[in-house]
Amino acid sequence: MDARLEAIRDTVLARNPGEVEFHQAVVEVFESLGPVHDRHPEFLEAAILERLCEPERQIIFRVPWTDDSGRVRINRGFRVEFNSALGPYKGGLRFHPSVYLGIVKFLGFEQIFKNALTGMPIGGGKGGADFDPRGRSDAEVMRFCQSFMTELYRHIGEYTDVPAGDIGVGGREIGYLFGQYKRITNRYESGVLTGKGISWGGSLVRPEATGFGTVIFTEQMLRTRGTSFDGQRVVVSGSGNVAINAIAKAQALGATVVACSDSSGYVVDEAGIDVALLREVKEVQRARLKDYAERRGGVAYVDGGSVWDVDASVALPCATQNELDGGAAARLVRGGLVAVGEGANMPCTRDAVSVFQQAGVLFGPGKAANAGGVATSALEMQQNASRDSWTFEHTEARLTDIMVGIHHRCAATAEEYGEPGNYVLGANIGGFVKVADAMLAQGLI
Ligand code: GLU
Repeated sequence: MDARLEAIRDTVLARNPGEVEFHQAVVEVFESLGPVHDRHPEFLEAAILERLCEPERQIIFRVPWTDDSGRVRINRGFRVEFNSALGPYKGGLRFHPSVYLGIVKFLGFEQIFKNALTGMPIGGGKGGADFDPRGRSDAEVMRFCQSFMTELYRHIGEYTDVPAGDIGVGGREIGYLFGQYKRITNRYESGVLTGKGISWGGSLVRPEATGFGTVIFTEQMLRTRGTSFDGQRVVVSGSGNVAINAIAKAQALGATVVACSDSSGYVVDEAGIDVALLREVKEVQRARLKDYAERRGGVAYVDGGSVWDVDASVALPCATQNELDGGAAARLVRGGLVAVGEGANMPCTRDAVSVFQQAGVLFGPGKAANAGGVATSALEMQQNASRDSWTFEHTEARLTDIMVGIHHRCAATAEEYGEPGNYVLGANIGGFVKVADAMLAQGLI
């Protein structure tokens, strides 16, 4: 790493002790930024990096609620409003027991660059709670969401901060959150949240957008090598919203997705995952992948273990951070891997990324490859602002244009900085320069 940036990195790490995921995200970005600072000494003079690593505002709050037996429960809620140089803070809410400040900050930090790469006017933020929705009734989830919003409402707004979903927060949760915001504020402010239901201000394609976008980005990478998804053998991790829609799109483009996973195990379905059945099991019944395997019949369900033991030519990690390590990466490379598109945020460890890069595997980092979700959130905001709703075809065409544009920007930036094909470098520099220019223009903020 560039010596000037090392000193800044050390200060950032020391100021944020114990936040390992945030450290990882910061270090990865800093490793790309040396050459930018050679060209732009003004960024160093204006302490852009020091400012970027310090969130504009961090909110931590108590979320009290009662479970169905009447017992009082307490969770911790977060919203980190990281950077508003390009637009209102934008980013999802994650409800998962692993959530703590370090995870919210890593996600918020990544979101700044991701959102900049989309070309849409959105800043970066992220939030959530250490609440585990699994096994909770609808009524419990509603009471939790209402309590969460009873604090959060004072910090958000269509021109201030626009949350959306992430792990554990889907259409059901956004509905309860929006209802409570509307009730407290007495405002039908559609643009305050994205991922809304289609009959009350949501956008077509938003549910599919992250998974579709990951596949569209990966298809663009494959085309630089004269190939495509057609005929590829694909492994996807996860079986939530991002994974299901990535599977659907990859198969629509002619690939066979032979495996996917959940936190208990994985399924190997050599004929190609049955997407309609997977949607039914996961989205309607909120059941486990084991139930998919039982209902599908004739497929292997592996309890525990790693889905990355299954050979593939394309890997789409769509579960969660640090789910694919250096060992798994080496195994995949030996099995004939040609491309990786990150549907989740930072699913590959830094070791895994270097294994892929050294082996010449096409590697699309999440902040570029999974930007389709937040980009379509920005399209939802556009529709809300103009009180309009677009067709599926029009919205999907916009998403495709945006993903092709992000791929082009990353590829062109990597080339400009002398490392053609390095999408990590292209995404980090491309996102950073846009935000840094805006911060310079806006003075010391
Ligand atoms: N949580 C998604 C992400 O990681 C989407 C955020 C949004 O739509 O605001 O980008």
